[in-house]
Amino acid sequence: MSSPNYPHLFSPIDFGSICLANRVVMGSMHTGLEETGDFQRLADFYVERVLGGVSLIVTGGIAPNSEGAVFPNAAAMTSPSEIKEHQIITDQVHQCGGRIAMQILHAGRYAYGKNCVAPSAIRSPISPFVPHELSSNEIEKQISDFAATAQRAQDAGYDGIEIMGSEGYFLNQFLVKRTNRRNDQWGGSYENRMRLPVEILRRCREATGGDFLIIFRLSMLDLVPDGSNWDEVLQLARAVENAGADIINSGIGWHESRIPTIATRVPRRAFSWVTKKLMGAVNVPIVASNRINSPDIAEQILAEGYADLVSMARPFLADAQFVKKAKNGQAHLITPCIACNQACLDHTFEGKVSSCIVNPRACHESEWQMTKAEVKKSVAIVGAGPAGLSAALTAAERGHRVTLFEKSDRIGGQLNMASRVPGKEEFTTLLTWYAAMLEEWDIDLKLNADVKFDILTRFDEVIIATGVKPRDLEIRKVGDISGQVLNYAETLTGDDKEIGDKVVIVGAGGIGFDVAEFLVNDGPGTTLDLSLWLKEWGVEDPAQFRGGVHPSGFAPRKPSRQVILMQRKTEKPGRQLGKTTGWIHRSALRHKNVEMRSGVKYLAIEPRGIRVSGPNGSSQTELVEADTVVICAGQVPDRDFADTLVESGLRPHVIGGAKSATDLDAKRAVQEGAGLAKTL
Ligand code: NAP
Ligand code: SF4
Repeated sequence: MSSPNYPHLFSPIDFGSICLANRVVMGSMHTGLEETGDFQRLADFYVERVLGGVSLIVTGGIAPNSEGAVFPNAAAMTSPSEIKEHQIITDQVHQCGGRIAMQILHAGRYAYGKNCVAPSAIRSPISPFVPHELSSNEIEKQISDFAATAQRAQDAGYDGIEIMGSEGYFLNQFLVKRTNRRNDQWGGSYENRMRLPVEILRRCREATGGDFLIIFRLSMLDLVPDGSNWDEVLQLARAVENAGADIINSGIGWHESRIPTIATRVPRRAFSWVTKKLMGAVNVPIVASNRINSPDIAEQILAEGYADLVSMARPFLADAQFVKKAKNGQAHLITPCIACNQACLDHTFEGKVSSCIVNPRACHESEWQMTKAEVKKSVAIVGAGPAGLSAALTAAERGHRVTLFEKSDRIGGQLNMASRVPGKEEFTTLLTWYAAMLEEWDIDLKLNADVKFDILTRFDEVIIATGVKPRDLEIRKVGDISGQVLNYAETLTGDDKEIGDKVVIVGAGGIGFDVAEFLVNDGPGTTLDLSLWLKEWGVEDPAQFRGGVHPSGFAPRKPSRQVILMQRKTEKPGRQLGKTTGWIHRSALRHKNVEMRSGVKYLAIEPRGIRVSGPNGSSQTELVEADTVVICAGQVPDRDFADTLVESGLRPHVIGGAKSATDLDAKRAVQEGAGLAKTL
């Protein structure tokens, strides 16, 4: 039976051995829980998503052997002794009515270790290791390892497996000449190059029999030069279907591609058009993926015939109840994944357990039970930025009566500035969600509030979340420079300030980069316009250009200003940006001709610009011409109000930027807000 809300999303699909109640697949994501060895914690994570309505989960990648592991000691299933541990997961998922497939991931030359292997000894641009070129016998070992792992997954109670054949991993490396220079039966012609993935699938099917779901993740758009063309994609899809695949999932972009595929500046459902090309060409169901983060988008994809199922991964970190809320007419209450990667993928690459910037409980389900407070209290929160909002929602969820005071006319604090940066439009979605949740939890929101000590004494608990203010700089000023110097807040909030055609930005941290992006784009960026975005990043139909990349690459729109970004540190600007997104920011600004200078010393701001010495410690001075100088030199806590309260005898909790501006970002603010509220 389909549901009146999102009828396509909630129509069942039958695979013979199993029937799924809806078309939502929770896609594979590596959370780092896989390496904790705590299978109960993994089970808790998955079970919460099953209870939230996901019908089919694909686990994080599990290696079939040590050479294929993404990094040394990454999760693998190489011996029968591991079967029992995985049963902890599968038993509990099944008890709750869910289905779960284990992804088998062989990283090939992406494996971070000296023992990595590949079709040819060609180093990847994102790895320091030259892979060992496999002999024929060693290729046979890889195939048997896959088949043995598939068999073990079945013995462990998994409903199926997903064979990772995309994203530039091992199987993908065999498919294209960029990485496969062999001239034996595993290289040369396309038929030979696709032999390995097809043979692996055939042997996995042989090992597991008919009643076992096999999903093949197929790279439909490599986004690297010399990638597959569409005829090859079609040929492979038909071959994996014949070899026994039940479902084909969309893989988009190799990890070494210089085109973003899942970050926030990628338009929603940016690649569903590629998936659609395969619809009707094979007889197995096809799954769409990448930047699908709302039930409306998912429903559109299905209703318009772009795919048979949709895969979402990070949205289930943001909200385990995604499916249930969509079904119950509460889509507006789904915590949106803003595709920032800050607490999920960035954590993975830092060797930490994933979580979510907007849901710090994600991957911490076992130790973070959401319990009702024993004593219901009145809680006053001053400041409706991310820390205050997060504290308000958690406190209200626990049963407290919450009043939220905000001195401006809107909620969100610094999130409002982020939402004005081209490519960060998802922050608006987040603000809309916070507003809906304040209403849902009946939080008393007081905007334009001039809150006083006396009012706060009436509450059981007082939380100060007044955030930060821009750091003022003591740069010498020479002559009349009125109106020529702005801080980032003035720049991003408009305030009718004139910004000239030549701008120097002082400070190249996250905010400096955001301001540069804002200044080189007059009006919205391309994230809200798919065809412009595809053109800008040089993405093409793989039927016309191999790998789907235009030979001339990036084609940016003309920058609206000349921008120079400066910092005192001698390191490359942007080094502190997110591990998985920093390269995108740097690349986008480079393409807009933003000049980046390191090792600069600021001497004076003058009517014609800013006088600096440098670079890199040199005493040579230069007047860098600028109509406007924007200061993005970090922040200081805005805690005068908290100090006044303390002096008057109140003992408020101080959280977020008001407590400390060091390393403050939305992740820390939300975490601190929720973390405090769960203890009240
Ligand atoms: P930040 O990343 O710490 O950068 C501050 C910048 O100001 C640095 O470039 C620093 O470089 C410079 N600076 C610091 N003190 C200075 C001084 N006294 N004089 C001159 N320059 C000075 O802080 P932010 O840019 O304000 O960002 C705040 C937080 O939000 C950070 O945690 C950031 O990661 C996060 N955020 C991230 C993103 C993103 O990843 N896209 C976007 C926005 C915000 P030098 O000291 O070398 O001059
Ligand atoms: Fe999505 Fe960001 Fe949360 Fe990751 S951290 S799940 S990208 S909102």
